[in-house]
Amino acid sequence: MRKPYKLIFEKHCIDRRAADLPALDVPKMDGLVPQACLGEALPLPSLSEMDLVRHYTGLSRRNFGVDNGSYPLGSCTMKYNPKLNEELTAHFNDLHPLLDDDALSAAYELQFALDRALCAVCGMDKFTLQPAAGAHGELTGLMVMRSYHNMRQDFLRAEMLIPDAAHGTNPASATMAGFKAVELKSLPDGGVDVEALKQAVSEKTAGLMLTNPNTLGLFEKNILEITQIVHDAGGLVYYDGANINAIMGKARPGDMGFDVMHVNLHKSFGTPHGGGGPGAGPVGVKKELIPFLPAPLIMKKNGRARPDYDRPLSIGRVKAFNGNFGVLVKAYAYILSLGADGLREASEAAVLNANYLRHYLKDVYELPYDGLCMHEFVLTPGALNEQGIHNVDIAKALIDYGYHPPTISFPLIVREAMMFEPTETESREDLDGLIYALRQIAETAKTDPDSLRSAPLTTPVGRPDETRAARNPIVIAPLSSSDRL
Ligand SMILES: *Cc1c(COP(=O)(O)O)cnc(C)c1O
Repeated sequence: MRKPYKLIFEKHCIDRRAADLPALDVPKMDGLVPQACLGEALPLPSLSEMDLVRHYTGLSRRNFGVDNGSYPLGSCTMKYNPKLNEELTAHFNDLHPLLDDDALSAAYELQFALDRALCAVCGMDKFTLQPAAGAHGELTGLMVMRSYHNMRQDFLRAEMLIPDAAHGTNPASATMAGFKAVELKSLPDGGVDVEALKQAVSEKTAGLMLTNPNTLGLFEKNILEITQIVHDAGGLVYYDGANINAIMGKARPGDMGFDVMHVNLHKSFGTPHGGGGPGAGPVGVKKELIPFLPAPLIMKKNGRARPDYDRPLSIGRVKAFNGNFGVLVKAYAYILSLGADGLREASEAAVLNANYLRHYLKDVYELPYDGLCMHEFVLTPGALNEQGIHNVDIAKALIDYGYHPPTISFPLIVREAMMFEPTETESREDLDGLIYALRQIAETAKTDPDSLRSAPLTTPVGRPDETRAARNPIVIAPLSSSDRL
């Protein structure tokens, strides 16, 4: 049964108050503030304190997060992140970015140490911590690639090769950075078509952007050959490391031949996300690209970490001050508390969990790419389509079981994709619960498909028109309700 939903304005009751101010015990003064500045009283609702508390607590309970339950949103790595790190970050709250360098020295040391740690995990030589998100990191890395080609007077390199399985941010960032995005079709097994890549590279190739494991959760077997082909053609290879969660301590993009990459600290390194951030998308490069990284860059001088502004080849600043510093603190705390072995274990558990889930679902749903997966995998409704059941129905039904839906209809190369990424922080019991729910849903799809088509039933709103909500959002309370004030 759908619970009725009321705006706070609709709960307004004129004779209820959450606060009761004492009567004025000093002479009333008029004219302190010009009348024109005061304007009219705001039409704020009036509620008792308990109604107010219940309203907002109720809203918070409708907000699904990792703290509520499993959140297998593929590619987004919605894992549990230790609360301790939030508390550690709070110790830096008083640090104003305009303090002088000596007062900020601990912050610089932390950033330098985080740069070193990320280099060790990724096999890169230097990281900038400025970019605020994965897509921002992509843009930064692509600008670095452009500067590299320009410095070599290699002005014709305008094409960025991107597999059709890539995250949508890849072609968007390439276009923003002034490149022409050229799509590479994947092979039927989900990997890069090496022959097609050989045909596609030329003296116009600026580079290739690759996600490995890709968005199907598959590790690119021919990765060394792929990066070699691009290098031989004079291009650079960009690694989309948003999902480094799959390979930490196991394989390094730097060793695979990648020249530039970003990681999403808000996916793999201890910052919760969803709801818009903040995040951080540090960009790492190989030695020959360091001069182009954003300035200032945190460098060691006379044994002390300091921002270096004297970087004539730099693409310039991409973010104010020291990036989203709190996120950097959490990432550093996360890496230190897990250590090298812990990071490796996290990746192993992420891959194990994904394969466990895949194994117990592949007989009731269709697995378009069979075989072992990495941190995530893609299913489709398969034969359930014949009952008129689509990926969206399954995703919506999962909400009624208390789980967040998987990513759906992405990657674009799989019709009706449902992409699951359980992450390493789910226990076996949690995974079994998710498997049970998904198997029940598959069963219901056969016996009572109509009930799935109206799911979810436990939320205030069932199936909003997502296209209209995105194109024509209504972000103010409907007039009829504020009228009642
Ligand atoms: C999440 C993600 C991105 C984009 O990261 P944002 O921080 O959301 O900008 C890019 N590529 C892949 C593979 C991702 O999963």
